[in-house]
Amino acid sequence: MAGFGAANLLYSQGIRPKLYELRARPGGLTSSFNFGNGFVFDEGIHISFSKHDDVKRLFAESTQHKYETGQVYCNNYWKGHWIKHPAQVNLHGLPTDLVIACIGDFIEASKIENPIIKNYQDWLLAAFGRTFAETFPMVYTRKYHTTDAANMSTDWLGPRLYRPKLEEMLRGALEHEPLDVFYVNEFRYPTEGGFESFIKGFYAKAEVHCDHEVTRIDMRDKALYFKNGTRASFENLISSIPLPKLVPLIVDAPTDVREAASRLACTQFVVVNIGLSRPLDMKPQWSYFYDEDIPFARVSYRGNLSSRNVPPGCDALQAEIYFSEKYRPLQGPPDDWIEPTIDALIKCGIVANRDEVIHKSTIWSPFGNVIFDLDRAAAVNTVHGFLRDIGINYCGRFGEWGYIWTDHAFMSGENAAKAALRAHDRETATLETLS
Ligand SMILES: Cc1cc2nc3c(=O)[nH]c(=O)nc-3n(C[C@H](O)[C@H](O)[C@H](O)COP(=O)(O)OP(=O)(O)OC[C@H]3O[C@@H](n4cnc5c(N)ncnc54)[C@H](O)[C@@H]3O)c2cc1C
Repeated sequence: MAGFGAANLLYSQGIRPKLYELRARPGGLTSSFNFGNGFVFDEGIHISFSKHDDVKRLFAESTQHKYETGQVYCNNYWKGHWIKHPAQVNLHGLPTDLVIACIGDFIEASKIENPIIKNYQDWLLAAFGRTFAETFPMVYTRKYHTTDAANMSTDWLGPRLYRPKLEEMLRGALEHEPLDVFYVNEFRYPTEGGFESFIKGFYAKAEVHCDHEVTRIDMRDKALYFKNGTRASFENLISSIPLPKLVPLIVDAPTDVREAASRLACTQFVVVNIGLSRPLDMKPQWSYFYDEDIPFARVSYRGNLSSRNVPPGCDALQAEIYFSEKYRPLQGPPDDWIEPTIDALIKCGIVANRDEVIHKSTIWSPFGNVIFDLDRAAAVNTVHGFLRDIGINYCGRFGEWGYIWTDHAFMSGENAAKAALRAHDRETATLETLS
């Protein structure tokens, strides 16, 4: 996304940039996988909920205006109960003692007007009270971010503490509403080809070189070296390579910058793709899972994004299981997670039995979500300062090292391209002055 955001902007200025990609195909995290049997899977659930008109227009044009629109609807699973989203204001149906404890603790927490918040755990306890925080989001944090809430900062949450109103909580605990009434946001998803179709329209705007893993960057000679033995020179460099990978590639990167980059943590994930021989009776696009004995944090329902993601009369789902090098390294091959996932899907009642599973596969993603642990802020500052000094225009989710979505990744690439153009203009002006 970020690479093609940069390419699209440069192309509009009459430049067709060279784009080097490690994998055998472009697309990065927004790649889609067609298994040739009618099932199309993305790399974890991807929908576009962009509010930016330019991005919406460009994505729409990329699909020749063939996209689905829908309302986001998701729900939660906890120990055999399906709960409307967001869970904190939809406690109806949970065990009575748990509901009483959640509400009681919430009232106690609400009495503290200006709570001291040093980390995400403090934030959760202050916002929701101890019982709810410990039963739901603190467990989910371990599953999704692979570390404890106490080890995470709050700078990804925005400036304000969100606290539901007591009335909202009581109403959600007392009233039973049908599970399918919570709609929050409109989304778009390509009709055909999976999420990647939103980006395919940009591929021709760059000279794309796949199977080109950058292994060395020499800023003095302005040269890139690749694992396949080739070399390329450049005038200006834009990078969306994840910062912990990027810094060690740079010739003569100082030790303190290397150390800072090595402190940055990111989740990795295995998605388990399951194709079923029948349509699913699930209305949401995705569900969150809180139980610690269920391996996945989230499951998405492929046919609810576009019917073309699945063969006629069939359906599919995708489970996301999170790891991280720093906190929970993956042990063994990703395919080891297929059978435990099917077991858990059967336990939750989503899959009836193994006979209806007609496709199973996995995708491994080495970079998922940036972990906002307590090391992040200082380490990012150090790395970004160095990259600015040597003139590498970093961009994207893993260049910015933030919790950014596809539209922001695309715009981040555009901004990096503008910075590269400004640098080019400055260099040209300096050369003219010298001559
Ligand atoms: C599970 C999940 C679900 C998400 N859901 C949504 C969603 O619903 N909506 C939404 O808007 N966003 C979503 N996002 C976020 C979205 O995926 C990202 O914001 C966006 O795709 C990031 O794009 P990028 O170009 O910055 O990074 P990437 O797509 O990671 O691109 C970086 C590229 O650099 C390449 N690379 C790495 N090292 C090298 C090297 N040494 N040499 C050459 N190339 C290299 C990689 O192969 C990759 O292609 C989700 C993210 C995840 C993990």
